[in-house]
Amino acid sequence: METLEDIRKEILNCKKCPLHLTKKNYVPGSGSGKSGIVFVGEAPGREEDLRGEPFVGSAGKLLTELLSSVGLTREEVFICNVLKCRPPNNRDPLPEEVEACGSYLVRQLNALKPDLIVCLGRHSASYIFSLFGLNFSSITKVCGRVFEVEEWDKKVKIFPLYHPAAVLYRVQLREEYERQFRLIGELCGKERKQRTLFDF
Ligand code: URA
Repeated sequence: METLEDIRKEILNCKKCPLHLTKKNYVPGSGSGKSGIVFVGEAPGREEDLRGEPFVGSAGKLLTELLSSVGLTREEVFICNVLKCRPPNNRDPLPEEVEACGSYLVRQLNALKPDLIVCLGRHSASYIFSLFGLNFSSITKVCGRVFEVEEWDKKVKIFPLYHPAAVLYRVQLREEYERQFRLIGELCGKERKQRTLFDF
């Protein structure tokens, strides 16, 4: 069974689409995913491209803050994006880029077998929904609802949320966003207890 590290090494040599020509650094993902939670964003932005790490710009700062407010560290979750290279000027991912890069995300998910996948933003949500055979209408319709699918011989929760950058621009979303992060804390709190019992 391949590991996150195997996949990371492959991403660092990827030439599947032209984005590798314009990026500064590949951004494979970060964290161990030990908590059973994976966060999936859209694509690296300027800061992420410079540092080779996901969510380290202003949206990332909010994500890190909200994680810590519900007792989670970046280390124990896995944070990644649908695209592993920055699209020039942060334009939307093209369907052919998602098609080319998506298999890395699928392999990362298969390596981690998470209990909870949090989709950050509409590009992430629509791709994750398509992977699990769920019908995606719009981010506004699905945002904040927990979807359950059967995968890896267990029940897996999919939790689509607005992108943290959207919450920075629209302050009126903030309170609800904080509530949704508290729900992540509760969902994974249960998982952790089960995990401890199983581990015993
Ligand atoms: N926005 C994303 O979708 N991903 C990042 O890593 C940073 C900003």
